[in-house]
Amino acid sequence: MMEEKKIPYKIYLEESELPKQWYNVRADMKNKPAPLLNPGTKEPLKFEDLTPIFCEELVKQELDDTTAYFDIPDEILDYYKTYRPSPLCRAYNLEKALGTPAKIYYKFEGNNTSGSHKLNSAIAQAYYAKKQGLKGVTTETGAGQWGTALSMACAHFDLDCKVYMVKVSYEQKPFRREVMRTYGASVTPSPSETTNVGKKILEEHPGTTGSLGCAISEAVEAATTREGYRYVLGSVLNQVLLHQSVIGLETKTALDKYGVTPDIIIGCAGGGSNLGGLISPFMGEKLRGEKDYEIIAVEPASCPSFTRGRFAYDFCDTGKVCPLAKMYTLGSGFIPSPNHAGGLRYHGMSSILSQLYHDGLMKAVSVEQTEVFEAAERFARVEGILPAPESAHAIRVAIDEALKCRETGEEKTIVFGLTGTGYFDMVAYEKYNNGEMSDYIPTDEDLQPGFDSLPPM
Ligand SMILES: *Cc1c(COP(=O)(O)O)cnc(C)c1O
Repeated sequence: MMEEKKIPYKIYLEESELPKQWYNVRADMKNKPAPLLNPGTKEPLKFEDLTPIFCEELVKQELDDTTAYFDIPDEILDYYKTYRPSPLCRAYNLEKALGTPAKIYYKFEGNNTSGSHKLNSAIAQAYYAKKQGLKGVTTETGAGQWGTALSMACAHFDLDCKVYMVKVSYEQKPFRREVMRTYGASVTPSPSETTNVGKKILEEHPGTTGSLGCAISEAVEAATTREGYRYVLGSVLNQVLLHQSVIGLETKTALDKYGVTPDIIIGCAGGGSNLGGLISPFMGEKLRGEKDYEIIAVEPASCPSFTRGRFAYDFCDTGKVCPLAKMYTLGSGFIPSPNHAGGLRYHGMSSILSQLYHDGLMKAVSVEQTEVFEAAERFARVEGILPAPESAHAIRVAIDEALKCRETGEEKTIVFGLTGTGYFDMVAYEKYNNGEMSDYIPTDEDLQPGFDSLPPM
């Protein structure tokens, strides 16, 4: 028997082992994700329909279902080198604490100032905007990670950055806001009076604390009504999953170095970008019939797009200014309960992941927030890293799977995505620590208005 190489606590790759190309999982999908549609005509959107909103090179990536690999430009690769490769960690301490024969690994994306994986796509999107000669970009941010990542990326390429931040986060997370401003971004709480769509939403829902869907509508309007600006989005889109494939490619290289093959791959799912990026190369093998993996998306029970949503064409935003995407969705009119503290609040899901889920190539589970924070604390105490609440959804299910192995004695290998750190989420941790956090699962009646907002097709 070949002797197993002792696996270190952290597998670091060499700089030279960084992927030089992103992998586009759509190239290996038999059933391609459905195209974006014009909400008026219901016709598939073409390159020239999308370029008034998005950067040209990014639109090419968005629409390309066949090219398997895209070269990562040197300028992006050089920036990646400032914080990548990210470590793949073996959770020896967690395994011991759980008394499980399972082998647990996590890919940690929180080792940069923005604190999450979002920088992987932010730097790419800022680069293409700069290359196109634009003055700046606009975007939305919910919890603040995407806005922070984008403001870092824009500072690097000397671009103006206008961020519409969901009002509840703007008020609850003043430090996030200041990080963005430190990197030179301007930050507006959404909904705001600075856009027509913001005014309209405020009229219809006075006192609303906002949602990602509202903030997207405002950011799109801010870009399309300004010369030299385009809109950029931090998740959901095909291009974002493409950039995030760097997570999965590094993970696979690190595991291959030690001859490790995962049985289960787990990630949290908001709009689907980190999960899509983590699983892409593994899903590619699965789609080509080379290997099989159990892939699990984890979402909050209070915003259950996969597990209780409809697979339908829907608006990507509340203000209904964006194209229609076919995805698992709760309806663009869905506004998550204010009681929900843990991120992952978006009503829809990546079209790529939606198609893969629909085709039975991956599973999804939903978890309640108190059990998520319980997992987060358990993890923090033994592994040291204080996780983002979003990431803790994946931790929860990784722990549950490891505990199943304790029952059955199976030595499964579990890999999960630890997408970020939780330093800016201490209000949520405080609630949990004070015993003030409760679970909220929407009833079917609660979900109905969201479904009623789906566009007729
Ligand atoms: C944004 C974010 C997520 C969720 O977004 P996805 O696009 O689904 O990956 C998860 N974790 C962290 C830390 C985030 O910032």
